[in-house]
Amino acid sequence: MKKLPIVIIPDPILRQKSKPVTEFTPELKKLADQMIKTMHQANGVGLAANQINIDQQIFVYGMEAFEDEGIKYPAIPDQAVINPRITVLDSRTQTMDEGCLSIPGIVAPIARPIKVRLEAQDIDGQPFIRDISGYEARVIQHETDHLNGVLFLDHVTDPTQIRRS
Ligand code: ZN
Repeated sequence: MKKLPIVIIPDPILRQKSKPVTEFTPELKKLADQMIKTMHQANGVGLAANQINIDQQIFVYGMEAFEDEGIKYPAIPDQAVINPRITVLDSRTQTMDEGCLSIPGIVAPIARPIKVRLEAQDIDGQPFIRDISGYEARVIQHETDHLNGVLFLDHVTDPTQIRRS
């Protein structure tokens, strides 16, 4: 399965709202598999379709368990999320460094709500609703932002906090 080239800023597709997925075909499954492979090869934890130049509301995410500054983060299974909508359930925020495969070499601390509701469809088109908190909530907010043309740097309030990774 081929690895897909990742689009880098300032490509305009990163600033577009992506089109909803209306057909849940075998090709969509193949795309999701290719995106998951591409994400892992690039050492990412999430990847949105416009990051590989595809104008459709689909993102993938997933990661191994890891530990950072004494905090343990559980593994998240690889999965595809289609036509996502996010609402904030707990607007208290947590701040953590973020980076992006489309903005290589840069990280910045980003404050995000700690708990959100994800309404979306799975790869078979089945609608689902999940309440998600912690690191996983951060990842799905970052990826849903992508599908709305928003980049993590848009959330930076103090530009002096942007640094090289
Ligand atoms: Zn990103």
